[in-house]
Amino acid sequence: MAAAQKRDYYEMLSVPRTAAAEEIKSAYRKAALKWHPDRNPRDKHQAEERFREATEAYSVLSDPQKRAAYDRYGHAGISGVGFDAGFNRTIFEEFQDIFGDFFGFEEVLGGGRRGRSRVQRGADLRYDMNLSFEEAASGVTTKVKLPRLEFCEACNGTGAKAGTGVTACQSCAGRGQLHYQQGFFTVTRTCPACQGAGQVVRERCVECRGQGRIEKERTIELRIPPGVDSQTRLRVPGEGEKGANGGPPGDLYVVLEVKEHPFFERRNADLYCTIPISFAQAALGTEIFVPGLNGDEKLKIPEGTQTGSIFRLKGKGLPDPHGGGKGDLYVNVRVVTPGKMSREQRRLLEQLGATLQVENRPAERNSSLFEKVKDIFG
Ligand SMILES: [Zn+2]
Ligand SMILES: [Zn+2]
Repeated sequence: MAAAQKRDYYEMLSVPRTAAAEEIKSAYRKAALKWHPDRNPRDKHQAEERFREATEAYSVLSDPQKRAAYDRYGHAGISGVGFDAGFNRTIFEEFQDIFGDFFGFEEVLGGGRRGRSRVQRGADLRYDMNLSFEEAASGVTTKVKLPRLEFCEACNGTGAKAGTGVTACQSCAGRGQLHYQQGFFTVTRTCPACQGAGQVVRERCVECRGQGRIEKERTIELRIPPGVDSQTRLRVPGEGEKGANGGPPGDLYVVLEVKEHPFFERRNADLYCTIPISFAQAALGTEIFVPGLNGDEKLKIPEGTQTGSIFRLKGKGLPDPHGGGKGDLYVNVRVVTPGKMSREQRRLLEQLGATLQVENRPAERNSSLFEKVKDIFG
């Protein structure tokens, strides 16, 4: 509204320019009661306008500084010098008896912010995925089918049955918010009936049951990098649910569960396994083949190897999914004592035994495989 066309504040409150503060206050009370929107349901729009004007006039005329500026320069004196010509919050407190039961006066006074639709980011989705040990080791590209909420095309996302449109929410009169007076404070809450949209559908869209979004199965290609482990969480940006009212989509989180391997144990990128060797192989030394991720790996067992010895095959572990090289493969050898023997084997072993000397005294305590590796290679 241009300043030139704006009505005079004294006129709005029907008081003379010489009116005292008390007179102005009681004039405003009269005007506020007269034009209270709740008391003028038939002519709500005009009542709101008058109510807003009277409140603005009182905001200025009840403040000695603003009133002086207005008396000298008119509306220009208020708007030009940093004064806020709008309503003054203390009025709510002063006239609590008038405002107390009236929901939404802030919107009336503030010019209205109706029918706002809340833009909401879509929800994040979680997808649990099982991988074999080998898939996790080598990485895999796979397609997954996943149900997720999509924009309903039948109703263009409005949730309204075709041709029926929307109507202002009755609970909040289209404001999207409810106001409660609590003592001196006005508590504003999102309207639960329309979730703040200010409007509700007349008849629900049958396709999406009024939700505006609909569950559809989508196929998404996932690229799992090599070396992932259980509980690895991969984020796929933008593949979550679509946002409400044009909001951005959420993300998809793929949570991996990797099956255990029958004989490889895993610690980060390193692999551990235990290989049995015979007493003779341990004593004499030999070359064996141990199963690796990419086929068999040759391992030299030196002469006089003790049970529980650990050998490292460098770089034969898992790739680091963050791109930092490869882990190692640790082979723990266990010397197997022969059980059932033939008479001939027994005779030979007795002959050998007579020539071997071992001092039978307590040896060091055993530590765990991982600790041993740390001690030896750490
Ligand atoms: Zn629909
Ligand atoms: Zn509502």
